[in-house]
Amino acid sequence: MEVLETLYNEIIRFLGVSQAWDLLKSGDYAAFRTYDGIVSLIYPIIPLLLLLELILGFIYKKPQTKVYKVNFLIYIFNRFVGRFIAIAMVTLIIGLLQPIAPFQTKLTWYWFIYGYIVWEFGHFLYHYWGHKVRLFWCLHSTHHAPEDMNLSVTHAHFFLEAPYADTIRTTVCILLGVQPELLFLIMFIDGTWGAFIHIGENFLKDGRLGFLNNIILTPSHHRVHHAKNPLYMDTNFCNLLNIWDKVFGTYQNEEESIKLEYGITREMNSGNFFDVYFGEIVCLVKDVIGAPGLKNKLLYIIMPPGWSHTGDHKTAKVTRDEFRRNELNLDVQLDVQVMDGE
Ligand SMILES: [Zn+2]
Ligand SMILES: [Zn+2]
Repeated sequence: MEVLETLYNEIIRFLGVSQAWDLLKSGDYAAFRTYDGIVSLIYPIIPLLLLLELILGFIYKKPQTKVYKVNFLIYIFNRFVGRFIAIAMVTLIIGLLQPIAPFQTKLTWYWFIYGYIVWEFGHFLYHYWGHKVRLFWCLHSTHHAPEDMNLSVTHAHFFLEAPYADTIRTTVCILLGVQPELLFLIMFIDGTWGAFIHIGENFLKDGRLGFLNNIILTPSHHRVHHAKNPLYMDTNFCNLLNIWDKVFGTYQNEEESIKLEYGITREMNSGNFFDVYFGEIVCLVKDVIGAPGLKNKLLYIIMPPGWSHTGDHKTAKVTRDEFRRNELNLDVQLDVQVMDGE
């Protein structure tokens, strides 16, 4: 019976309902109006949406089972390791860096906006490097392996990615004076939104969310981020406020004419846990071993994915620039044809 009890506890934990369940049992319904009460009600939203989405997938006969299966395995694998290291890193950084921050924010609405902008900057840095430094791409690529989009992709992460991401985001926030309480509030909102933007087309066909698409980062923007189409690669690194994408020129809207193709560009088996989880590490090790000289070996580790010691680079930037050039040429040719026709 112990197995059943463990299973029951794990399901309750996955669904995120234990806090709300405890409050319900206590009979203290007023507690739902407190911060903790509200949080306890928001937690289960994403897991419930995930289950609904899975059911809808079966109804529409587009269940994307391969993605769910591998992401479920990843969830189980990560459940016992990654989170604990990340929490330890956050605690350590707060302890070390908070004393040297030049000032401390307070829990007010304007400091909240300040804190969120700073957090997004930290998020941008972690995510940008996750795509532009090959070693960090090894940690991040697991998240980009699925060839379909649904809420289970939220759980597709290499177990060392959370510690790496939280180290950078927390360092930036604490050094720029964001106090821990405010940081945890932002982390909660950002985590919930960060999960929601993976909602799939089975549930939400148009991810633009109407006028919100002009103001914040929507599921549509994040679908673009997960796409391997040349125009879309390495764009939309932000999470909720996409100001930093606009500042650094990585902002990209979803184009009607381009059908989203999810996944990563190398040949891989996205239904194979080992390939999804360790595939990029294997590729990097092969490249490092095959590279001539120590300098080239090191460059493979720190240069963007697709960089080659032969000079024949296949990075996202090269692919995107080439696509743009072809598009421009096509436009010029069309213009000439139109002028000829006149
Ligand atoms: Zn990414
Ligand atoms: Zn994502």
